[in-house]
Amino acid sequence: MSESSAPEHLFDLPPEYLDQHLERWCQHHELPGYRAKQVRQHLIEGRKYDPEEMTSLPEALRQDLSTGLLRSPLITAEQLRSSDGTIKFRFILEDGLSIESVWIPTEDRGTLCISSQVGCAAGCTFCATGTMKLTRNLHSREIVSQWLAVHAATTAEGLCGVTQVVFMGMGEPLHNYPAVSRAIDWFSSAQGFHFSPRRITVSTVGVVPRIRELVKDHPQVRLAVSLHSAIPETRDSIVPINTRHDLDQLGEVLEEIRGDSRRISIEYVLLPGINDSDEEAKALALFAARCGAHINLLPFHPFEGAPYTAAGAAEVGRFQAMVQKNYEGSVTARRSRGLDIDGACGQLVLKNPGTTKKG
Ligand code: SF4
Repeated sequence: MSESSAPEHLFDLPPEYLDQHLERWCQHHELPGYRAKQVRQHLIEGRKYDPEEMTSLPEALRQDLSTGLLRSPLITAEQLRSSDGTIKFRFILEDGLSIESVWIPTEDRGTLCISSQVGCAAGCTFCATGTMKLTRNLHSREIVSQWLAVHAATTAEGLCGVTQVVFMGMGEPLHNYPAVSRAIDWFSSAQGFHFSPRRITVSTVGVVPRIRELVKDHPQVRLAVSLHSAIPETRDSIVPINTRHDLDQLGEVLEEIRGDSRRISIEYVLLPGINDSDEEAKALALFAARCGAHINLLPFHPFEGAPYTAAGAAEVGRFQAMVQKNYEGSVTARRSRGLDIDGACGQLVLKNPGTTKKG
C-alpha cells in the first residue's frame, strides 16, 4: 500500500487529541462513544497496542482497528539473544524495509536503543548504519511501535521491559525531528504513555539548530552528543557533519543549555591511532568543560569492511586516565554489549536490508 493511500495511524497524530481522534473514529464507524474510552483504556493503561488483545471489544471493531487506526506498522522478523542478556530485534516495516532495536539489561533496568531512520545520511566512518546511506525517515508510528513491541516481548518473558529509551539506533534523530518529537510526545505526555522524559535520551552528532528546538520542546529529555573528537581536522574526517556544524557552533549551543537540569553526555568511540592520542584526550577534556558534560568512552564494534580496530582494555584505561587528569567531571568507559549478536547499530540490517515494496 502506498503511503498516500494508507489510512491515518493514531501514533502519527498528536497525543493531546487522543480522545478526540478516538471519538471521531467511533462516530465515523457509527459506534457508541463509550467504545472510544474502552480503546483508550486498553491502549494507554493496558499497553495493549494489538487490537486482537482488546478482548472486551467486538470482533468487527478489532478488525477495523487492526487494518486502520491501530494497524501494526512493523512485524518482528528476528530476535537474537546475546550471552550477556542483550536482545536485538529486527523489524520489517509496511514497505518491506528493515530496522533494528536493541534491548540492553543492566541490574533493574532495560534500556531500549531505538531507530529513527532507515539508514543514515550522517555517514560517520566508524558506523555500520552510516555505510548504508539514508533510505527514508521513520514515521512516529514506527518509532512508538518499536518501544511497544520490545516492551511487550520482554515483559512477556518476566523481564523488566523498557525502563529507559535512547535514540541511538539507526539514524540521526535530529534529521527526523518532527517524527522523533511526536514519538517523544507519545512516550512522555500525560495524554500518552506517561513515561518519564528524564528516562529518554536523544543522541545527536551535532545538528545544532535542531538541538535548540529539542531543548525548547522537550526540556527534560537528556542529550547525548556523539563527539568522537574535539580536534577539528580529526572530527571532519570521522564525523562529516562537522564540516557543516563545527565544534565552535556545537560548543556554543551546549554552553547555552549547561545551566538547565538536563544532563548532557558526550559519547566518544575510541579508535586506536585516530582519536586516542594525549592531544585528543586534552582537547576532549577542554570541550567537555564548556558544558559540564559527563564523558562516556565507547568501544568500537567492528563490522565487515570497517577500517578500524577496537581499543584494548589498556588503551582505554590510558586514554580515560589522561582525560580524567584534565577534567573535573565524570568520565566512564562503557563495555561492549551484544557483540555475539551483531550488537553495533545497523549491523543486523546491513545483512538483511529488506526490500521496498512497490505501489
Ligand atoms: Fe548516523 Fe549515528 Fe551512525 Fe553517525 S553514528 S552514521 S549519526 S547512525
